[in-house]
Amino acid sequence: MAANILVVEDEPAIQELLAVNLEHAGHHVLRAKDAEQAASLVRHALPDLILLDWMLPGQSGAGFARTLRQDERTKQVPIIMLTARGQEQDKIAGLEAGADDYVTKPFSPRELLARIKAVLRRRAPQLTDEPIEIGGLRLDPSTHRVGAGGMPVELGPTEFRLLHFLMAHPERVHSRAQLLDHVWGDHVFVEERTVDVHIRRLRKALEATRHDRLIETVRGSGYRLSAAALV
Ligand code: CA
Repeated sequence: MAANILVVEDEPAIQELLAVNLEHAGHHVLRAKDAEQAASLVRHALPDLILLDWMLPGQSGAGFARTLRQDERTKQVPIIMLTARGQEQDKIAGLEAGADDYVTKPFSPRELLARIKAVLRRRAPQLTDEPIEIGGLRLDPSTHRVGAGGMPVELGPTEFRLLHFLMAHPERVHSRAQLLDHVWGDHVFVEERTVDVHIRRLRKALEATRHDRLIETVRGSGYRLSAAALV
């Protein structure tokens, strides 16, 4: 389960230690030394998870978490706070600010990775390798295979990621901007029309077994994958 993780930590040695451990576990790491730098990275591309230090120069970690939670685009990003050992008040305040979990410093790399995995499994199911089946359409992330009614479906890499994201979040409407953030990882330089092009290709690939009906266009909002559309 590889994820794009943004590490926000001002102490270079700890930032390095975090990055090395995360990269060793297969994650892709982005680094920021304060909330301002982190905000600029997030504006460019939405990470899968943010590892956020409590004590930062400038805006505090909790303050930054609160800012992220208030923004429609970033309010769902999983956040794990890093707090100093024994600062019970910090942990509570961190969770109140919207963090999903916290890890106390000095941290054990194994515990940190386990907590990241748990938060991602809960909050970002499209990153896991679990096969998903909806209405006879089956997607297996570990083998990169898709089957519909027992027949193999050939998909390009973008259509595969798009279908994976939609199947991991069924019955929910996703705007084009949200799909760009989660599937392309970029909502700044890719045009929203691009989403429509890949949705069209995806539907075409699913037409033979009529599973294209799973993907609904929600006028004025975006797209939704719904099993209800099959009946
Ligand atoms: Ca710090």
